[in-house]
Amino acid sequence: MRRYRCGKIVSTIGPASSDPEKLEGLFLRGVDVFRLNFSHGAHEGHAKVYESIRAIGKKYNCHPTILADMQGPKLRVGTFENDRIILETGDVFRFDLDPTPGNTRRVNLPHPEILEALHAGTTLLLDDGKLRFEVTECGNDFANVKVLVGGPLSNRKGVNVPHVKLNIPALTEKDLKDLNFALDLGVDWIACSFVQTPEDVENAKKIINGRAGIVSKLEKPLAIEALEPIVEVSDAIMVARGDLGVEMNPEEVPPIQRRIINTCHRMGRPIIVATQMLESMISSPSPTRAEISDIATAVYCGADATMLSAESASGQYPYEAVSIMSKTVEHVETDPFCARRVEDDEQVPQRTTIDAICTAAKDAAEYSCASAIVLFTEKFESVVRCTRLRPRVPVILVTESPALASKSGLCYGIYAVCEKTFENKNFDTSVMTKVAKDLAKTHKFAKDGDTIVMLNDLQGHSIEICQL
Ligand code: ATP
Ligand code: MG
Ligand code: MG
Repeated sequence: MRRYRCGKIVSTIGPASSDPEKLEGLFLRGVDVFRLNFSHGAHEGHAKVYESIRAIGKKYNCHPTILADMQGPKLRVGTFENDRIILETGDVFRFDLDPTPGNTRRVNLPHPEILEALHAGTTLLLDDGKLRFEVTECGNDFANVKVLVGGPLSNRKGVNVPHVKLNIPALTEKDLKDLNFALDLGVDWIACSFVQTPEDVENAKKIINGRAGIVSKLEKPLAIEALEPIVEVSDAIMVARGDLGVEMNPEEVPPIQRRIINTCHRMGRPIIVATQMLESMISSPSPTRAEISDIATAVYCGADATMLSAESASGQYPYEAVSIMSKTVEHVETDPFCARRVEDDEQVPQRTTIDAICTAAKDAAEYSCASAIVLFTEKFESVVRCTRLRPRVPVILVTESPALASKSGLCYGIYAVCEKTFENKNFDTSVMTKVAKDLAKTHKFAKDGDTIVMLNDLQGHSIEICQL
């Protein structure tokens, strides 16, 4: 689907958006990457969503991206009799090991090691820090708490105990099952939660074994300390502001977000900014000015993608949220100041052939006022090296691999076309430029008289500036 923006939109799928018609509606309104959160829902439901998304791809002859998010070592409450309760400030409440569904007086916290680590006076934060409790009394199998900040609490919301170290591996048993299930489905990306060291990523990588890319979710202070080595071994990065904003002071998050984005630009990794981007739209059809400004900030910093969580998974206005995010990204990108800001980041090319040719293609597109770059490649690495430079025009990726096409949908400015283009491997420049021109025209990126830049990464490396 032709979009009129380069920044991508990731949308979390949940009860509010998992019907096939809803998925199609979201796609038509701008979703490029569908996120299946394995912290919630059952395998069967995720499989259905997966199939529906692939069917949408077939119907519209395009390649939507699918990302499977692993829960990781996160503490969560169990479920409630009526799925949801409201707690008022001053209420008393209890966490215990009883797996039966909870009510307004108690709920299951299925983590004995955490109950043991608590003591009177410990603060517990729930649902990305929206609710705040203080432990008044506890034993090995329960904790009584006072509600300091109340609000709604629903099934399987996250629990944070700041400054208490968890003794759970980065990939839990549940994660290993979910991971294999997601890989068997054929997802494009696996997101690993609570990564703290490069070894956490390497371990996941061994299991994934090239079957999907790895997005490392940065949401722990330790991960920020090891930022560069973690980015180095990851294929993409997510600024997971939900837990990051609970684990650190909220005011520390914006500078960290910038640092992460800059590091990803420099090292050439796609970067997603996530959590609460349009939070008020969970229950309101229009956003706040501050939320629009938050999306704009991510675009000005040069993020590859911005993400919706509960807004599209369980909110009342998933379509509106996607439309507003899409419109905001599209408009901010038209600001010339936006392109300049992104270019100000250090993007010194490496002394490699691929960087040489990508830099040349970017400059050629700029100075010939081209309307698109057509990139022929079969390597994800080349896709990334090209979009890292943030060319000001869309990049039409032409590949024979459907897997490369859908994986690349996360990257800034990439529009993927999957075709067996060159009979008998005939890579003559005249043949390649003809194919490039035809594709740019059929996919509505250029019309007669326009200029495009063709980048050949299939046989040797070359660029060609051509007029339609
Ligand atoms: P994470 O830390 O991975 O972001 P989360 O609990 O914050 O976990 P999100 O993916 O941010 O989850 O989604 C926001 C909310 O949407 C969830 O807390 C949950 O209430 C709901 N949700 C998301 N996916 C599903 C699903 N597949 N089934 C049911 N509810 C879901
Ligand atoms: Mg979340
Ligand atoms: Mg999380």
